[in-house]
Amino acid sequence: MPLYSYRCKACGHEFETLVRASDVPVCASCNSQDLDKLVSLVAPEAKSKGILANTRAVAKKEGHFSNYSKAERSKL
Ligand SMILES: [Zn+2]
Repeated sequence: MPLYSYRCKACGHEFETLVRASDVPVCASCNSQDLDKLVSLVAPEAKSKGILANTRAVAKKEGHFSNYSKAERSKL
């Protein structure tokens, strides 16, 4: 089953859900079906915390923060 990211147009909630072909995804927050499908090219395995931490450790060592989000960078 593919994992898709959605943003609810009704309440702005973003979430990921496994979607079968027969399923209509609904917002996990307000149950709206008015959703934007977010195109995420991040492979699921790249989201695993271990890999992310490792990538960030390397990035930190190399002195760049491209693996950090804007919000996270502002905290550094
Ligand atoms: Zn919603």
